[in-house]
Amino acid sequence: MSQRSIEDFLTASQEQQIIDTIRNAERQTSGEIRVHLEHNTHDKTIEERTLEVFQILKMHNTEQHNAVLIYVAVEDKQFAIYGDKGINEVVSDDFWDSTKSLMTSHFKKDDYANGLIAAIQEAGKQLKAFFPWRFGDRDELSNEISKG
Ligand code: CA
Ligand code: CA
Repeated sequence: MSQRSIEDFLTASQEQQIIDTIRNAERQTSGEIRVHLEHNTHDKTIEERTLEVFQILKMHNTEQHNAVLIYVAVEDKQFAIYGDKGINEVVSDDFWDSTKSLMTSHFKKDDYANGLIAAIQEAGKQLKAFFPWRFGDRDELSNEISKG
């Protein structure tokens, strides 16, 4: 099996599309969405590693604690979604299910860019219900894709 590098995972134009999608999603919600790509989970469970990356990226630094991290381990084709405590306090346990299933269906077809785009759009829509955009909202966390 060929090793898939992070650089091959998305083209430059797909990356830009993803960044634009994050920016657009954040026009509807005060929630902050980030994407992190890396080769593998560093011998940790994907849940442990996702939480670790969330902390490394200082994603808890939002006023409403409503940031969400979409984490992808590229070689493993695995992903996880982690939302901060402000989200977990107000949503049901199945809150991310629609986002995850959209992502899974695209990833199964090796369509990573559209999987991420669909997931970001869905996450934005989901967050909007609980954390609508408000006048004066700031872009608290970078929209750039983070790579480990
Ligand atoms: Ca914001
Ligand atoms: Ca942002």
